[in-house]
Amino acid sequence: MEILAESKVHIFIRCPQCGGTIDFLEEAQVIRCQFCNSSLLVAGREGVLRYVLAPRLSDPQKAQLKAMEYMLGVKKRSPRAGRTFLFYAPFWRMQGTVFRWVFGSKLMKNPLRRLGISISISFEPRDEEATVSTPPPMERRKVLLSRVLDHTIPGYGGLELGLSTIGIRAQALRLQTFSREHLEMRESFLPLEVSLEKAQADAKRFSNLFFEDKELIPEVTLQRIVGLRFSVIYFPLWYVDCSHEGGRGILLLDAVGQSPVQTIPDGDPILSKLRGNDTRKSFQFSELRFLPFRCPNCGWAFPFRPLSILHFCPTCRHLFREKEGEWAELAYSVIPSREDPPPKNPLWVPFWRCRTRLESSGERMETMADLHRLAPSPRVVDPNRESRRPIYFYIPAVKFRNPQTIHNLGSRLTFVQPDLNLGSFEDGSHPLTAGGSLGVEDAQDMGLMILGALIPQANRKARAWIQKCRVELQDPQLLYFPFTRADLFWKEMTTGVSFQHNSLSEDLQEPQR
Ligand SMILES: [Zn+2]
Ligand SMILES: [Zn+2]
Repeated sequence: MEILAESKVHIFIRCPQCGGTIDFLEEAQVIRCQFCNSSLLVAGREGVLRYVLAPRLSDPQKAQLKAMEYMLGVKKRSPRAGRTFLFYAPFWRMQGTVFRWVFGSKLMKNPLRRLGISISISFEPRDEEATVSTPPPMERRKVLLSRVLDHTIPGYGGLELGLSTIGIRAQALRLQTFSREHLEMRESFLPLEVSLEKAQADAKRFSNLFFEDKELIPEVTLQRIVGLRFSVIYFPLWYVDCSHEGGRGILLLDAVGQSPVQTIPDGDPILSKLRGNDTRKSFQFSELRFLPFRCPNCGWAFPFRPLSILHFCPTCRHLFREKEGEWAELAYSVIPSREDPPPKNPLWVPFWRCRTRLESSGERMETMADLHRLAPSPRVVDPNRESRRPIYFYIPAVKFRNPQTIHNLGSRLTFVQPDLNLGSFEDGSHPLTAGGSLGVEDAQDMGLMILGALIPQANRKARAWIQKCRVELQDPQLLYFPFTRADLFWKEMTTGVSFQHNSLSEDLQEPQR
Protein backbone atom coordinates (compact mmCIF):
# COMPACT_ATOMS: atom_id res chain seq x y z
CA MET A 1 0.00 0.00 0.00
CA GLU A 2 1.25 3.44 -0.91
CA ILE A 3 1.68 5.73 2.06
CA LEU A 4 2.89 9.25 2.07
CA ALA A 5 6.38 9.09 3.49
CA GLU A 6 8.73 11.79 4.64
CA SER A 7 11.75 9.78 3.59
CA LYS A 8 12.55 7.01 1.18
CA VAL A 9 14.34 4.90 3.75
CA HIS A 10 13.30 1.25 3.82
CA ILE A 11 13.77 -1.15 6.69
CA PHE A 12 14.35 -4.85 6.12
CA ILE A 13 13.29 -7.48 8.63
CA ARG A 14 12.45 -11.16 8.69
CA CYS A 15 8.77 -11.92 9.17
CA PRO A 16 8.37 -13.43 12.66
CA GLN A 17 5.53 -15.63 11.34
CA CYS A 18 7.04 -17.14 8.18
CA GLY A 19 10.65 -15.93 7.94
CA GLY A 20 10.09 -14.12 4.63
CA THR A 21 11.72 -10.72 4.05
CA ILE A 22 9.51 -7.73 4.76
CA ASP A 23 10.60 -4.41 3.36
CA PHE A 24 8.75 -1.41 4.79
CA LEU A 25 9.03 2.35 4.79
CA GLU A 26 10.53 3.47 8.06
CA GLU A 27 7.49 5.56 8.99
CA ALA A 28 5.16 2.58 8.82
CA GLN A 29 3.72 1.53 12.18
CA VAL A 30 1.73 -1.37 10.77
CA ILE A 31 3.19 -3.65 8.12
CA ARG A 32 1.97 -6.61 6.11
CA CYS A 33 3.98 -9.67 5.06
CA GLN A 34 3.42 -10.39 1.39
CA PHE A 35 4.29 -14.06 1.87
CA CYS A 36 1.98 -15.10 4.70
CA ASN A 37 -0.32 -12.04 4.56
CA SER A 38 -0.10 -11.41 8.30
CA SER A 39 -0.33 -7.85 9.58
CA LEU A 40 2.01 -6.74 12.34
CA LEU A 41 2.37 -3.73 14.57
CA VAL A 42 5.95 -2.43 14.73
CA ALA A 43 6.64 -2.02 18.44
CA GLY A 44 9.60 -0.90 20.54
CA ARG A 45 10.22 2.45 18.92
CA GLU A 46 10.23 4.66 21.98
CA GLY A 47 14.01 4.54 22.58
CA VAL A 48 17.02 4.79 20.29
CA LEU A 49 17.07 2.15 17.54
CA ARG A 50 20.17 1.12 15.64
CA TYR A 51 20.42 0.13 12.02
CA VAL A 52 23.04 -1.15 9.66
CA LEU A 53 23.19 0.21 6.15
CA ALA A 54 23.69 -2.69 3.76
CA PRO A 55 26.79 -2.29 1.52
CA ARG A 56 26.22 -2.30 -2.24
CA LEU A 57 29.88 -3.18 -2.73
CA SER A 58 30.34 -6.34 -0.68
CA ASP A 59 33.07 -8.29 -2.50
CA PRO A 60 36.62 -7.57 -1.22
CA GLN A 61 38.15 -8.24 -4.62
CA LYS A 62 35.85 -5.72 -6.26
CA ALA A 63 36.74 -3.24 -3.54
CA GLN A 64 40.44 -3.76 -4.29
CA LEU A 65 39.77 -3.33 -7.98
CA LYS A 66 38.05 -0.01 -7.30
CA ALA A 67 40.98 1.02 -5.14
CA MET A 68 43.50 0.19 -7.86
CA GLU A 69 41.49 2.07 -10.48
CA TYR A 70 41.54 5.06 -8.20
CA MET A 71 45.28 4.83 -7.51
CA LEU A 72 46.05 4.64 -11.22
CA GLY A 73 43.72 7.56 -11.80
CA VAL A 74 45.71 9.73 -9.41
CA LYS A 75 48.93 8.68 -11.20
CA LYS A 76 50.34 6.30 -8.61
CA ARG A 77 52.67 3.81 -10.21
CA SER A 78 52.39 0.01 -9.80
CA PRO A 79 49.75 0.11 -7.09
CA ARG A 80 49.11 -3.02 -5.05
CA ALA A 81 46.32 -3.75 -2.61
CA GLY A 82 47.15 -5.30 0.73
CA ARG A 83 44.92 -5.80 3.71
CA THR A 84 41.27 -5.18 2.77
CA PHE A 85 38.23 -5.32 4.99
CA LEU A 86 34.79 -3.85 5.49
CA PHE A 87 33.99 -1.87 8.63
CA TYR A 88 31.11 0.24 9.86
CA ALA A 89 31.13 3.79 11.21
CA PRO A 90 28.26 4.96 13.45
CA PHE A 91 26.25 8.09 12.69
CA TRP A 92 23.61 9.70 14.83
CA ARG A 93 20.43 10.43 12.93
CA MET A 94 17.97 13.08 14.14
CA GLN A 95 14.45 13.39 12.79
CA GLY A 96 11.54 15.63 13.65
CA THR A 97 9.37 18.48 12.44
CA VAL A 98 10.46 22.00 13.27
CA PHE A 99 7.78 24.63 13.81
CA ARG A 100 8.59 28.30 14.17
CA TRP A 101 6.33 31.25 14.77
CA VAL A 102 7.86 34.52 13.64
CA PHE A 103 6.25 37.73 14.86
CA GLY A 104 7.64 40.71 13.02
CA SER A 105 7.02 43.42 10.53
CA LYS A 106 7.02 43.42 6.81
CA LEU A 107 7.42 46.06 4.20
CA MET A 108 4.07 46.66 2.56
CA LYS A 109 4.63 45.87 -1.07
CA ASN A 110 1.91 47.97 -2.51
CA PRO A 111 -0.19 49.52 0.23
CA LEU A 112 -2.66 51.17 -2.11
CA ARG A 113 -3.40 48.02 -4.01
CA ARG A 114 -3.84 46.17 -0.74
CA LEU A 115 -6.59 48.61 0.13
CA GLY A 116 -8.21 48.01 -3.21
CA ILE A 117 -7.33 51.50 -4.43
CA SER A 118 -5.81 51.95 -7.81
CA ILE A 119 -4.60 55.43 -8.65
CA SER A 120 -1.72 56.69 -10.64
CA ILE A 121 0.27 59.62 -9.41
CA SER A 122 3.33 61.16 -10.83
CA PHE A 123 5.66 62.30 -8.13
CA GLU A 124 9.01 63.99 -8.42
CA PRO A 125 10.86 64.18 -5.13
CA ARG A 126 12.16 67.72 -4.78
CA ASP A 127 15.26 66.67 -2.97
CA GLU A 128 16.68 63.62 -1.24
CA GLU A 129 15.32 64.57 2.16
CA ALA A 130 11.78 64.38 0.96
CA THR A 131 12.09 60.70 0.12
CA VAL A 132 13.84 59.88 3.36
CA SER A 133 11.30 61.61 5.54
CA THR A 134 8.53 59.26 4.40
CA PRO A 135 9.27 55.88 6.00
CA PRO A 136 8.15 52.94 3.95
CA PRO A 137 4.87 51.61 5.30
CA MET A 138 5.29 48.52 7.45
CA GLU A 139 2.71 46.05 8.56
CA ARG A 140 2.77 43.74 11.53
CA ARG A 141 2.73 40.13 10.55
CA LYS A 142 3.17 36.73 12.01
CA VAL A 143 3.92 33.58 10.07
CA LEU A 144 4.18 29.95 11.01
CA LEU A 145 7.01 28.10 9.30
CA SER A 146 7.53 24.37 9.40
CA ARG A 147 9.98 21.96 7.93
CA VAL A 148 11.20 18.41 8.28
CA LEU A 149 14.49 17.87 10.09
CA ASP A 150 16.40 14.76 9.01
CA HIS A 151 20.10 14.96 9.56
CA THR A 152 23.05 12.76 10.43
CA ILE A 153 26.27 13.56 12.29
CA PRO A 154 29.29 11.31 12.95
CA GLY A 155 28.92 9.17 16.06
CA TYR A 156 32.54 7.94 16.13
CA GLY A 157 35.19 9.98 17.88
CA GLY A 158 38.77 11.01 17.24
CA LEU A 159 38.91 9.95 13.61
CA GLU A 160 38.81 11.86 10.37
CA LEU A 161 37.06 9.56 7.90
CA GLY A 162 36.10 12.25 5.42
CA LEU A 163 32.36 11.84 5.90
CA SER A 164 30.59 14.60 7.79
CA THR A 165 27.08 13.31 7.13
CA ILE A 166 25.17 10.60 5.24
CA GLY A 167 22.80 12.10 2.69
CA ILE A 168 19.71 10.38 4.05
CA ARG A 169 16.80 12.18 2.51
CA ALA A 170 18.09 12.27 -1.02
CA GLN A 171 18.75 8.56 -1.24
CA ALA A 172 16.64 5.46 -1.23
CA LEU A 173 18.43 3.58 1.52
CA ARG A 174 17.98 0.07 2.84
CA LEU A 175 18.44 -0.32 6.56
CA GLN A 176 18.68 -3.57 8.45
CA THR A 177 17.91 -3.63 12.12
CA PHE A 178 21.01 -4.31 14.18
CA SER A 179 20.89 -8.01 14.96
CA ARG A 180 22.67 -10.77 16.84
CA GLU A 181 24.73 -11.54 13.75
CA HIS A 182 26.02 -7.96 13.75
CA LEU A 183 26.86 -8.24 17.42
CA GLU A 184 29.06 -11.22 16.65
CA MET A 185 31.06 -9.11 14.18
CA ARG A 186 31.67 -6.54 16.85
CA GLU A 187 35.21 -5.82 15.70
CA SER A 188 33.88 -4.56 12.39
CA PHE A 189 32.01 -1.75 14.14
CA LEU A 190 33.64 1.46 15.28
CA PRO A 191 32.50 2.36 18.79
CA LEU A 192 29.79 4.97 19.30
CA GLU A 193 31.66 7.72 21.14
CA VAL A 194 29.51 10.80 20.59
CA SER A 195 26.86 10.99 23.33
CA LEU A 196 23.14 11.32 22.85
CA GLU A 197 23.35 14.66 24.71
CA LYS A 198 25.74 15.98 22.06
CA ALA A 199 23.39 14.78 19.30
CA GLN A 200 20.49 16.53 21.08
CA ALA A 201 22.43 19.78 21.24
CA ASP A 202 23.24 19.47 17.53
CA ALA A 203 19.59 18.87 16.67
CA LYS A 204 18.76 22.17 18.33
CA ARG A 205 21.46 23.90 16.34
CA PHE A 206 20.38 22.36 13.03
CA SER A 207 16.75 23.25 13.64
CA ASN A 208 17.75 26.92 13.55
CA LEU A 209 19.48 26.77 10.19
CA PHE A 210 18.10 27.85 6.83
CA PHE A 211 14.81 28.71 8.33
CA GLU A 212 13.38 32.18 7.89
CA ASP A 213 10.81 34.22 6.10
CA LYS A 214 12.90 36.47 3.88
CA GLU A 215 10.47 39.39 3.83
CA LEU A 216 9.77 39.47 7.54
CA ILE A 217 11.92 41.38 10.03
CA PRO A 218 11.63 39.11 13.08
CA GLU A 219 10.90 40.60 16.49
CA VAL A 220 9.81 37.53 18.45
CA THR A 221 10.25 33.90 17.45
CA LEU A 222 8.87 30.77 19.10
CA GLN A 223 10.31 27.44 18.09
CA ARG A 224 9.73 23.77 18.83
CA ILE A 225 10.93 20.51 17.35
CA VAL A 226 7.96 18.15 17.39
CA GLY A 227 8.44 14.39 17.46
CA LEU A 228 12.23 14.57 17.75
CA ARG A 229 13.77 11.11 17.72
CA PHE A 230 17.26 9.72 17.42
CA SER A 231 18.67 6.57 15.93
CA VAL A 232 22.12 5.25 15.10
CA ILE A 233 23.02 4.14 11.58
CA TYR A 234 26.17 2.14 10.92
CA PHE A 235 27.61 3.13 7.57
CA PRO A 236 29.81 0.60 5.65
CA LEU A 237 33.29 1.56 4.47
CA TRP A 238 36.07 -0.43 2.84
CA TYR A 239 39.56 -0.19 4.26
CA VAL A 240 42.10 -0.92 1.52
CA ASP A 241 45.80 -0.82 2.34
CA CYS A 242 47.42 0.42 -0.88
CA SER A 243 51.10 0.51 -1.63
CA HIS A 244 52.68 1.92 -4.74
CA GLU A 245 56.05 2.91 -6.05
CA GLY A 246 57.43 5.29 -3.46
CA GLY A 247 54.64 5.16 -0.89
CA ARG A 248 51.73 3.68 0.94
CA GLY A 249 48.30 4.83 2.11
CA ILE A 250 44.95 3.61 3.32
CA LEU A 251 42.12 4.24 0.91
CA LEU A 252 38.63 4.45 2.42
CA LEU A 253 35.84 3.51 0.04
CA ASP A 254 32.16 4.26 0.55
CA ALA A 255 30.56 0.79 0.22
CA VAL A 256 27.12 2.24 -0.58
CA GLY A 257 28.08 4.88 -3.15
CA GLN A 258 30.99 2.64 -4.30
CA SER A 259 33.35 5.58 -4.49
CA PRO A 260 36.61 6.61 -2.78
CA VAL A 261 36.14 8.85 0.26
CA GLN A 262 39.73 9.71 1.08
CA THR A 263 43.27 8.40 1.52
CA ILE A 264 44.84 8.51 4.95
CA PRO A 265 48.54 7.93 5.63
CA ASP A 266 48.05 5.77 8.69
CA GLY A 267 45.35 3.16 9.40
CA ASP A 268 46.39 2.49 13.00
CA PRO A 269 43.90 4.85 14.66
CA ILE A 270 41.04 3.00 12.91
CA LEU A 271 42.49 -0.42 13.69
CA SER A 272 42.98 0.31 17.34
CA LYS A 273 39.42 1.71 17.70
CA LEU A 274 38.02 -1.42 16.06
CA ARG A 275 40.09 -3.70 18.29
CA GLY A 276 39.96 -1.78 21.50
CA ASN A 277 37.35 -2.20 24.15
CA ASP A 278 38.23 0.87 26.20
CA THR A 279 36.24 3.26 24.00
CA ARG A 280 33.16 1.01 23.82
CA LYS A 281 30.69 2.54 26.21
CA SER A 282 27.52 0.63 26.75
CA PHE A 283 24.42 2.35 25.47
CA GLN A 284 20.90 1.08 25.98
CA PHE A 285 19.39 0.63 22.53
CA SER A 286 15.79 -0.32 21.82
CA GLU A 287 14.84 -3.22 19.63
CA LEU A 288 11.97 -3.48 17.19
CA ARG A 289 9.37 -6.06 18.09
CA PHE A 290 6.28 -7.15 16.24
CA LEU A 291 2.80 -7.70 17.62
CA PRO A 292 -0.05 -9.46 15.82
CA PHE A 293 -2.31 -6.74 14.49
CA ARG A 294 -5.56 -7.95 16.07
CA CYS A 295 -7.71 -6.45 18.77
CA PRO A 296 -6.51 -8.02 22.06
CA ASN A 297 -10.03 -7.66 23.42
CA CYS A 298 -12.18 -9.33 20.75
CA GLY A 299 -9.68 -10.81 18.30
CA TRP A 300 -10.91 -9.03 15.15
CA ALA A 301 -8.38 -7.44 12.79
CA PHE A 302 -7.95 -3.72 13.37
CA PRO A 303 -8.56 -1.39 10.40
CA PHE A 304 -5.26 -1.16 8.52
CA ARG A 305 -3.88 2.29 9.39
CA PRO A 306 -0.18 2.00 8.50
CA LEU A 307 0.95 5.30 10.07
CA SER A 308 -1.08 5.05 13.26
CA ILE A 309 -0.01 4.36 16.80
CA LEU A 310 -3.51 4.38 18.33
CA HIS A 311 -5.74 1.62 16.99
CA PHE A 312 -9.49 1.63 17.40
CA CYS A 313 -11.45 -1.62 17.13
CA PRO A 314 -14.79 -0.84 15.46
CA THR A 315 -16.16 -4.21 16.58
CA CYS A 316 -15.82 -3.88 20.36
CA ARG A 317 -15.05 -0.11 20.39
CA HIS A 318 -11.94 -0.44 22.54
CA LEU A 319 -8.85 1.64 21.81
CA PHE A 320 -5.30 0.28 22.03
CA ARG A 321 -1.73 1.38 21.66
CA GLU A 322 1.60 -0.31 22.17
CA LYS A 323 3.40 0.23 25.45
CA GLU A 324 6.76 -1.40 26.20
CA GLY A 325 6.20 -4.08 23.63
CA GLU A 326 2.63 -5.01 24.65
CA TRP A 327 -0.83 -3.85 23.70
CA ALA A 328 -2.27 -1.46 26.28
CA GLU A 329 -5.79 -0.10 26.41
CA LEU A 330 -6.39 3.63 26.31
CA ALA A 331 -9.49 5.41 27.62
CA TYR A 332 -11.31 7.87 25.35
CA SER A 333 -14.53 9.86 25.19
CA VAL A 334 -16.89 10.72 22.39
CA ILE A 335 -18.40 14.13 21.66
CA PRO A 336 -22.00 13.38 20.65
CA SER A 337 -23.17 15.25 17.59
CA ARG A 338 -25.57 18.10 18.30
CA GLU A 339 -27.03 17.88 14.84
CA ASP A 340 -30.62 16.74 14.63
CA PRO A 341 -30.90 14.22 13.09
CA PRO A 342 -27.29 13.19 13.76
CA PRO A 343 -25.08 12.80 10.66
CA LYS A 344 -25.42 9.43 8.94
CA ASN A 345 -21.86 8.34 8.33
CA PRO A 346 -19.63 10.58 10.37
CA LEU A 347 -15.87 10.24 10.45
CA TRP A 348 -14.75 10.28 14.07
CA VAL A 349 -11.52 12.23 14.40
CA PRO A 350 -9.50 11.92 17.62
CA PHE A 351 -8.15 15.03 19.35
CA TRP A 352 -5.99 15.38 22.43
CA ARG A 353 -7.37 17.78 24.98
CA CYS A 354 -4.97 18.94 27.67
CA ARG A 355 -5.42 21.12 30.71
CA THR A 356 -2.98 23.97 30.06
CA ARG A 357 -1.02 26.20 32.39
CA LEU A 358 1.13 29.07 31.20
CA GLU A 359 3.90 30.71 33.12
CA SER A 360 6.15 33.61 32.20
CA SER A 361 8.00 36.31 34.15
CA GLY A 362 6.66 34.91 37.42
CA GLU A 363 3.06 35.24 36.27
CA ARG A 364 0.86 32.16 36.03
CA MET A 365 -2.23 31.73 33.89
CA GLU A 366 -4.60 28.83 34.28
CA THR A 367 -8.13 30.05 33.63
CA MET A 368 -9.83 31.39 30.55
CA ALA A 369 -10.14 34.77 32.28
CA ASP A 370 -6.33 34.86 32.54
CA LEU A 371 -5.93 33.89 28.91
CA HIS A 372 -8.30 36.64 27.73
CA ARG A 373 -5.91 39.22 29.18
CA LEU A 374 -3.30 37.90 26.78
CA ALA A 375 -5.53 37.08 23.84
CA PRO A 376 -8.86 38.92 24.07
CA SER A 377 -11.91 36.93 23.11
CA PRO A 378 -13.83 38.19 20.07
CA ARG A 379 -17.06 37.28 21.86
CA VAL A 380 -18.71 38.84 24.86
CA VAL A 381 -17.72 36.75 27.85
CA ASP A 382 -18.85 36.59 31.44
CA PRO A 383 -15.69 37.27 33.49
CA ASN A 384 -17.00 35.39 36.52
CA ARG A 385 -17.71 32.30 34.57
CA GLU A 386 -14.44 32.54 32.65
CA SER A 387 -12.44 32.70 35.88
CA ARG A 388 -13.74 29.22 36.74
CA ARG A 389 -13.04 27.69 33.32
CA PRO A 390 -9.70 25.92 32.85
CA ILE A 391 -7.70 26.51 29.67
CA TYR A 392 -7.86 23.53 27.34
CA PHE A 393 -5.50 23.14 24.42
CA TYR A 394 -6.63 20.88 21.57
CA ILE A 395 -4.31 19.10 19.18
CA PRO A 396 -5.48 16.57 16.62
CA ALA A 397 -4.24 13.04 17.37
CA VAL A 398 -3.82 12.71 13.61
CA LYS A 399 -0.85 13.50 11.41
CA PHE A 400 -1.80 15.24 8.20
CA ARG A 401 0.14 15.37 4.95
CA ASN A 402 0.97 18.97 5.69
CA PRO A 403 2.23 19.51 9.26
CA GLN A 404 0.58 22.95 9.28
CA THR A 405 -2.86 21.29 9.12
CA ILE A 406 -2.18 19.75 12.54
CA HIS A 407 -1.48 23.19 13.88
CA ASN A 408 -4.44 24.85 12.12
CA LEU A 409 -7.00 22.37 13.40
CA GLY A 410 -5.56 22.47 16.91
CA SER A 411 -5.39 26.23 17.15
CA ARG A 412 -8.89 26.72 15.74
CA LEU A 413 -10.47 24.29 18.16
CA THR A 414 -8.46 25.81 21.01
CA PHE A 415 -9.68 29.25 19.97
CA VAL A 416 -13.31 28.06 20.08
CA GLN A 417 -12.96 26.44 23.56
CA PRO A 418 -16.20 24.50 23.07
CA ASP A 419 -18.40 23.48 26.00
CA LEU A 420 -18.44 19.73 25.68
CA ASN A 421 -20.55 16.88 26.97
CA LEU A 422 -18.48 13.72 26.98
CA GLY A 423 -20.23 10.55 25.90
CA SER A 424 -19.50 7.18 24.37
CA PHE A 425 -20.25 5.33 21.14
CA GLU A 426 -23.63 3.67 20.97
CA ASP A 427 -23.82 -0.03 21.78
CA GLY A 428 -23.76 -2.11 18.63
CA SER A 429 -22.45 0.75 16.47
CA HIS A 430 -19.47 0.28 14.15
CA PRO A 431 -17.85 3.74 14.03
CA LEU A 432 -15.52 4.85 11.26
CA THR A 433 -12.50 6.52 12.86
CA ALA A 434 -9.44 8.33 11.57
CA GLY A 435 -6.24 6.63 12.73
CA GLY A 436 -4.45 8.06 15.76
CA SER A 437 -1.08 8.85 14.25
CA LEU A 438 0.04 11.71 16.50
CA GLY A 439 1.02 10.55 19.98
CA VAL A 440 0.48 12.51 23.15
CA GLU A 441 4.12 13.56 23.58
CA ASP A 442 4.23 15.01 20.07
CA ALA A 443 0.91 16.74 20.73
CA GLN A 444 2.27 18.27 23.93
CA ASP A 445 5.29 19.55 21.97
CA MET A 446 2.80 21.57 19.88
CA GLY A 447 1.60 23.57 22.93
CA LEU A 448 3.79 26.60 22.37
CA MET A 449 2.82 26.75 18.69
CA ILE A 450 -0.88 26.72 19.58
CA LEU A 451 -0.23 29.56 22.02
CA GLY A 452 1.55 31.45 19.23
CA ALA A 453 -1.57 31.13 17.11
CA LEU A 454 -3.79 32.64 19.83
CA ILE A 455 -1.68 35.76 20.33
CA PRO A 456 -2.63 38.77 18.22
CA GLN A 457 0.24 39.79 15.98
CA ALA A 458 0.25 43.44 17.00
CA ASN A 459 0.06 43.01 20.77
CA ARG A 460 3.59 43.91 21.89
CA LYS A 461 3.04 43.07 25.53
CA ALA A 462 1.59 39.64 24.79
CA ARG A 463 4.38 38.88 22.35
CA ALA A 464 7.00 39.73 24.95
CA TRP A 465 5.19 37.61 27.54
CA ILE A 466 5.02 34.48 25.42
CA GLN A 467 8.64 34.61 24.38
CA LYS A 468 9.76 33.24 27.74
CA CYS A 469 6.59 31.32 28.40
CA ARG A 470 6.51 27.82 29.79
CA VAL A 471 3.55 25.93 28.40
CA GLU A 472 2.47 22.90 30.40
CA LEU A 473 -0.03 20.55 28.81
CA GLN A 474 -1.34 18.15 31.43
CA ASP A 475 -3.99 15.46 31.97
CA PRO A 476 -4.34 14.49 28.30
CA GLN A 477 -7.72 13.11 27.27
CA LEU A 478 -8.54 11.59 23.91
CA LEU A 479 -11.81 12.84 22.43
CA TYR A 480 -13.49 11.70 19.22
CA PHE A 481 -15.34 14.48 17.34
CA PRO A 482 -17.89 13.69 14.59
CA PHE A 483 -16.97 15.13 11.18
CA THR A 484 -19.49 15.24 8.33
CA ARG A 485 -18.50 15.06 4.69
CA ALA A 486 -19.33 18.31 2.85
CA ASP A 487 -17.94 18.50 -0.69
CA LEU A 488 -14.17 18.39 -0.46
CA PHE A 489 -14.14 18.78 3.30
CA TRP A 490 -14.76 16.96 6.52
CA LYS A 491 -16.46 19.41 8.84
CA GLU A 492 -17.29 19.36 12.54
CA MET A 493 -20.68 21.05 12.73
CA THR A 494 -20.70 22.22 16.35
CA THR A 495 -17.36 24.02 16.22
CA GLY A 496 -17.09 24.65 12.46
CA VAL A 497 -13.59 23.14 12.34
CA SER A 498 -12.85 21.43 9.01
CA PHE A 499 -10.13 19.92 6.84
CA GLN A 500 -9.85 18.76 3.24
CA HIS A 501 -10.61 15.06 2.90
CA ASN A 502 -7.44 14.42 0.89
CA SER A 503 -5.24 15.97 3.57
CA LEU A 504 -5.37 12.78 5.65
CA SER A 505 -2.22 10.70 5.24
CA GLU A 506 -4.03 7.38 5.46
CA ASP A 507 -7.05 6.20 3.58
CA LEU A 508 -10.03 5.02 5.55
CA GLN A 509 -10.48 1.47 4.33
CA GLU A 510 -12.06 -1.04 6.68
CA PRO A 511 -10.69 -4.51 7.40
CA GLN A 512 -11.87 -7.23 5.04
CA ARG A 513 -13.95 -9.89 6.67
ZN1 LIG B 1 5.22 -13.72 6.78
ZN1 LIG C 1 -12.14 -5.49 19.52
